[in-house]
Amino acid sequence: MDALVRLRRLGFRKWYERQLLESHLYLVTCLLGLIAVLSAIELFGARRSAGEAVLAIAVGLGGVWVCLFCWQRYSRILQVAERLGDHAHCPRCDAYARFEIVDGGRALDEAAAGDGDPREVWLRGRCRKCGCEWTL
Ligand SMILES: [Zn+2]
Repeated sequence: MDALVRLRRLGFRKWYERQLLESHLYLVTCLLGLIAVLSAIELFGARRSAGEAVLAIAVGLGGVWVCLFCWQRYSRILQVAERLGDHAHCPRCDAYARFEIVDGGRALDEAAAGDGDPREVWLRGRCRKCGCEWTL
């Protein structure tokens, strides 16, 4: 689903909360990948046959891939959420996260979320309290 549509449907607070939850699930998965790597090292050290060595290498490589992929997703999601969260105060009345989304940058889309620069993510918000518009 388009990130902007999802953000409008959920509202900023819920979207932010879910981003934090999703990013920390990636962090937990990253740690599981690290455990797989450590297990593979242990398994490789105690190998008794070529089959066990191949299994240890496969588990180790899989763990490295999971670890790197999940770390990248964790940091990207968290950077985007924190960047938008830091600017979610209305500049006129200081209301937090009480705005409608007028427009948003393309980098916010999930398709670009993997490789885009988090600084390219922007939202145009209109305060529900005072009507002020600003770019997050
Ligand atoms: Zn305001």
